[in-house]
Amino acid sequence: MGSHANAASTKPAKLEHMRIDLHVHSALSDGTDTIPELIKKAVEAHLDVIALTDHDHMAGVEEAQHLGTQAGLKVLRGVEMSTHIDVPEPLVPTFRLRRPVHLLGYGCRPTPELTSLLADVRAAREDRIPATLEKLAALGMPLTLEEVEEQAARATSIGRPHVADALVARGYVPSRDVAFARYLYDGGPAYVSRYTPTTGEAIDAVNAAHGVPVLAHVWARGNATLVTADIITEWVRDHNLAGIEVDHVDHDEETRHALAELAKRLGLIRTGSSDYHGSGKTRNPLGACLTDPEQYERLVRIIHERGGQE
Ligand code: AMP
Ligand code: ZN
Ligand code: FE
Ligand code: FE
Repeated sequence: MGSHANAASTKPAKLEHMRIDLHVHSALSDGTDTIPELIKKAVEAHLDVIALTDHDHMAGVEEAQHLGTQAGLKVLRGVEMSTHIDVPEPLVPTFRLRRPVHLLGYGCRPTPELTSLLADVRAAREDRIPATLEKLAALGMPLTLEEVEEQAARATSIGRPHVADALVARGYVPSRDVAFARYLYDGGPAYVSRYTPTTGEAIDAVNAAHGVPVLAHVWARGNATLVTADIITEWVRDHNLAGIEVDHVDHDEETRHALAELAKRLGLIRTGSSDYHGSGKTRNPLGACLTDPEQYERLVRIIHERGGQE
């Protein structure tokens, strides 16, 4: 193949064939694979690059990079931040509805400011668990804090998926997905809100930490009508948002097309990724969606220009 390559092409063949998955979770948040398991599976999935993007911390990155280097896998430093926007409630315009938005930060330096912001978010994650358990008990499904902590034993950031796992372990529900669909979904009967920064604040925090902010699965789960193209445009203009995760299993073809067009119009990086959670999410196998190598190159170039930390 190499000898038939267009001589005018300056792009190394290696790069254009790279398989790049920029959104992957480990058991240090709500994935189910330990870092060594994750690296092994990423190599088995013939990936060349992954970004480790656990929720609200970067605790696993060094180990993943160390093991990745040994296995010939590039691991990009990442984090997935919990953020929110307040949107008007359509039926009662005087009310504001809080809507979660996930923000990926790539190449962030662990500055004191970012570290402290992430610590606040993780503390709020912990704080919400007892209130969640009270709601579940009222629904006839008592669980102890210990049961949830057992499910999160390996995690640096605890979350609803661990509560879901405890519900499964007790036999209240058959799976994580059912636990979310019945009880834990945003605004659901066992849902408890928690502190998160606004999306604008989080974008600023990633930029200040020399990283590159990219919106995660922004039009998934009915968010498209609330997180509008106008709002995304404002984030680009006022906060220097750098990219959008376009290819994600929670975006249908039409949504991907619309997001790709929006990203092009705004000059944003377009990424694709699996949002792998091990056996915690069955629709998201490693490499389920990939990032175009040219877009990845752009991302890495910006990290370097900003003095970020790959
Ligand atoms: P938390 O971080 O505790 O707010 O929980 C968010 C995590 O739960 C993310 O990993 C989501 O992918 C997952 N999640 C959120 N909503 C759902 C849902 N409806 N079904 C399955 N998983 C969900
Ligand atoms: Zn997750
Ligand atoms: Fe997410
Ligand atoms: Fe994720």
